[in-house]
Amino acid sequence: MSSPEPLGENDAERPQEPRRKTSQAPRIGVFVCHCGSNIAGTVDMPKVTEAVEKVPGVVVAKENKYTCSDLGQDEIIKAIKENDVDRVVVAACSPRMHEPTFRSCIKEAGLNPYMLQMVNLREQCSWVHSREKEKATEKAADLVKMGIAKAARLEPLEAREVPVEQSSLVIGGGVAGIQAALDLAQMGFKVYLVESEPSIGGRMAQLDKTFPTGDCAICILAPKMVELSRHPNITLLSYSEVEDVTGFIGNYDVKIRRKARYVVEDKCVGCGECADACPVKVDNKFDMGFGKRKAIYVPFPQAVPLKYTIDRENCIYFKTGKCKSCVKACANEAIDHEMEDEIVDVKVGTIICATGFDIYVPMKRGVYKYWEYQNVITGLELERLLNASGPTGGHLIRPSDGETPRRVAFIQCVGSRNKKIGTDYCSRVCCMYSMKNAQIIKEHEPDTEIAVYYNDIRAFGKGFEELYHRVREEYGIEFIRGRPAKLSENPETNSITIRAEETLLNKITEREFDLIVLSTGLKPSEGSLKIGKILSLSLSPDGFFMEAHPKLRPVDTAVEGIYLAGCAQGPKDIPDSVAQAKAAAASAASIMSGKKVKIEPLTALVDEELCIGCELCVDMCPYGAPEMVESEKGTRARIVEALCHGCGTCVAACPQKAIKANQFTDEQIASEIVSALEGEDGATGEERKASKKAEEA
Ligand code: FAD
Ligand code: SF4
Ligand code: SF4
Ligand code: SF4
Repeated sequence: MSSPEPLGENDAERPQEPRRKTSQAPRIGVFVCHCGSNIAGTVDMPKVTEAVEKVPGVVVAKENKYTCSDLGQDEIIKAIKENDVDRVVVAACSPRMHEPTFRSCIKEAGLNPYMLQMVNLREQCSWVHSREKEKATEKAADLVKMGIAKAARLEPLEAREVPVEQSSLVIGGGVAGIQAALDLAQMGFKVYLVESEPSIGGRMAQLDKTFPTGDCAICILAPKMVELSRHPNITLLSYSEVEDVTGFIGNYDVKIRRKARYVVEDKCVGCGECADACPVKVDNKFDMGFGKRKAIYVPFPQAVPLKYTIDRENCIYFKTGKCKSCVKACANEAIDHEMEDEIVDVKVGTIICATGFDIYVPMKRGVYKYWEYQNVITGLELERLLNASGPTGGHLIRPSDGETPRRVAFIQCVGSRNKKIGTDYCSRVCCMYSMKNAQIIKEHEPDTEIAVYYNDIRAFGKGFEELYHRVREEYGIEFIRGRPAKLSENPETNSITIRAEETLLNKITEREFDLIVLSTGLKPSEGSLKIGKILSLSLSPDGFFMEAHPKLRPVDTAVEGIYLAGCAQGPKDIPDSVAQAKAAAASAASIMSGKKVKIEPLTALVDEELCIGCELCVDMCPYGAPEMVESEKGTRARIVEALCHGCGTCVAACPQKAIKANQFTDEQIASEIVSALEGEDGATGEERKASKKAEEA
């Protein structure tokens, strides 16, 4: 079967010119696809084929049930050869899906792969007009005729090949970034992992155990963190941020800011003498504010790298110029308050963006009183309280008095599935992490009374439904369907009463609890939004990074050579984050394992004669593709083809009409419009309507 061909050196040997010269009258082959009943269920395909086969230039027109199938493609190849076809129209589904398939197919028949015009009869006709069959058929015939008009004006194009840098940049050192970096390094590629925090590990390092199996999170993560830091192919740049990325697939230039730790990494042995000597105590962000840390600190005991960092905002020396107790305590002379940020430049072929998620923070004046009642906490805060290396050594307490809570309620979907606040997506992990934590509480204190207030239980993954049944049946966790409407605190006991409508029982109930846990959802991270702008990545409506195709290219982005892994692309659990990281690493490796990468020729071109050097295209291009160069004619624009996405913005912006977009020239587009208005038979729209009326009469 013909399928999009992998890139390879043989590519250069393939015919790039059509067998016939373009100056000859075009010989067009039209292939109309039923797409099963997707198109044929609405559009009368024989009628469309009949309507287009007599259009001037068409030498063969055929219909097929599935044109993309092996048989369908063989039929195209046969028809091209038998009819001396030099350009092809495929009227089928979206070109996003199958354009590469049909390009390879016509190439196999000896044509230039860009002598193909696709017409989208599915998304742009049958699916949107399923109740108007006759009109849909008419529209389909018009669309195909427009495609034929453009095909007659297609020019052969040539793809270019550029060398690929055999190294990759992974941004974000959570479980997804760690996995992607390790996979690439094990395949032999050089990897730079950039993490903005002082340690890698991401959110997983903060968790106690992991659903559904109950493995200790840090016990399975720490070995990977250490392996990464020791891998000879990986350069770990922690406490660093990507400042700028320029270039294109295979050739990205990256500027990284290494923030000053005020501790020389090579000298620090992680003994902690400095922290013991430091007089400053502040809330520990890693422990969600429950524990304290010093102004010189490591975020958690298993941190990688195990190097101390001075928190400049809280260090006495930076405020007053005095102290330096840490300097005196450090036997290795590792502390340097005069240290400055450093800029590191690296060159990479591919980039994996694994910048994770942030936790939804409940609203200040929200129903659940997170900011008012001390005994209302979030799921991540509970993780730290249950964690053996957390601030309480794993002993669950009520924040108000340090007592063990006897009655605990979980409230689901806080900050998820809520159109009013713009988070109408499901965060996918909150149902399961609540069940996991409910089970852990029961294991610590079997007499605890636990209720989960939920909207729907989403236990979709492997082993999830089993966990749901286990916590209900074996651990006696109560599940109450209903969203709490009101929480009120007893000022004497600090216990909290939940008023809720139990929708299964159709009644309003009130119940008192010692501790309330809000199952807060996941939202796009600040770090993602920052890096998204640098990399020109698009966002989905939910604010997470958008993949190139939700089903067929779930780890690619619209920018060639940049891939997504983990929660940066959308909420997901650890197994899915790891699976996606592996897929992103494999995709990046497939680019880097070839010595060269193909650059599509569907780009813009500047006509030097017409350009006046106004630089408008430079300002307008979202991808930084135009550059100004000196030529005999003066300063003129030139498009760096490898950066150009062929979006056409510059074409529309240029006041001199000096830029044309390959495959979308004014002439080609005008021919489609004329065909739609007049028909290739020369009749105007009005004349066609009149003749139709006459026929009907
Ligand atoms: P993250 O863990 O968020 O890591 C992203 C990393 O990127 C961070 O280190 C961050 O500092 C860094 N970063 C961000 N921006 C930048 C930038 N611009 N430059 C450099 N670095 C940057 N899943 C399970 O399977 N089982 C569970 O039991 C479980 N429990 C959970 C409990 C809670 C309360 C929550 C909130 C989630 C839970 N999850 C669980 C989900 C799990 O946490 C995620 O699946 C996992 O952390 C995703 O990893 P990640 O690498 O994509 O993102
Ligand atoms: Fe702590 Fe700063 Fe004093 Fe060092 S100089 S001991 S980090 S307060
Ligand atoms: Fe030249 Fe047109 Fe670009 Fe101006 S916008 S620099 S005229 S190509
Ligand atoms: Fe930039 Fe789009 Fe013009 Fe290419 S076509 S140079 S991507 S504006």
